[in-house]
Amino acid sequence: MFTTPGRGYARPMSLIDRFRVEPGKTAGLSKRDPAETAGVDHAEADDRLAANVEAIDALQQRLYAEHTRALLVVLQAMDAAGKDSTIRHVFGPLNPQGVQVKAFKKPTPDELAHDFLWRVHQATPRRGHIAIFNRSHYEDVLVVRVDKLVPESVWRDRYDQINGFERLLCEAGTKVVKIHLLISPERQREKLMRRITDPRRNWKFEAEDFETRKKWGAYREAYEEAITRTSTKHAPWYVVPTDKKWFRLLVVSEIIRAELEAMKPEFPALKIEPAAAMKLLEELNESSP
Ligand code: AMP
Ligand code: MG
Repeated sequence: MFTTPGRGYARPMSLIDRFRVEPGKTAGLSKRDPAETAGVDHAEADDRLAANVEAIDALQQRLYAEHTRALLVVLQAMDAAGKDSTIRHVFGPLNPQGVQVKAFKKPTPDELAHDFLWRVHQATPRRGHIAIFNRSHYEDVLVVRVDKLVPESVWRDRYDQINGFERLLCEAGTKVVKIHLLISPERQREKLMRRITDPRRNWKFEAEDFETRKKWGAYREAYEEAITRTSTKHAPWYVVPTDKKWFRLLVVSEIIRAELEAMKPEFPALKIEPAAAMKLLEELNESSP
């Protein structure tokens, strides 16, 4: 699907366009296939992933050097959908100096004593950086809604509050990209089982995940509404099929690459006048400390 003979890869814009939730459209989660691979071949996807990671690395260097804008990537999904592995494979190879990962757990008493965006705002990327949220402020309209941790009147207002917050980030120079990893219940069952049967994965076992799984329908509804109400032009949602790991990594890397390319980060020019630069060069040539 990607290769153009003799010219390397064509830009497969259509691949990510189909996974973007256009503002004003519904997420349509139940109509999407978590096992979809869009006709892409596994080996081709791996090649393309490697090329994307290289391109993302080069773009990150420019973003860092430019030091004016930032990228925030929100990863939201059910347990065992592959958030951790996505972070490792797509962002792991980048320069750690310009990348932060923030995992949002159950709020602490201190965090609960503030508004729900307080802890989130502090973790947003500084200029030049990329931040990845492993879970996010969306938990406050997902688990909080499903488990009735606050009254409906409180979480309902949060969609507008989130849109306002993300607009602020955008206007301040932070591009926000939100990715929902869509896993099927069957694939989740397999992956949760592995956490019991595979000694290298036992550490990931959490009894709570099995309780959460029983509320699949309620989570589906909560995700559907959250994504539908908060996919905006300045902070779009992508729904990425996740059952096939290699396809998930391909699509996520494709999204990040395309979003960074659209930002067009540039290396800044030399900060001194050409004449002054020449003088410094001459001095360097002539002098030895
Ligand atoms: P994990 O990502 O497996 O480490 O689990 C983190 C847990 O923290 C998940 O069960 C989330 O639902 C929960 N969590 C994250 N943010 C919130 C929040 N704002 N309110 C309640 N639970 C949360
Ligand atoms: Mg967990």
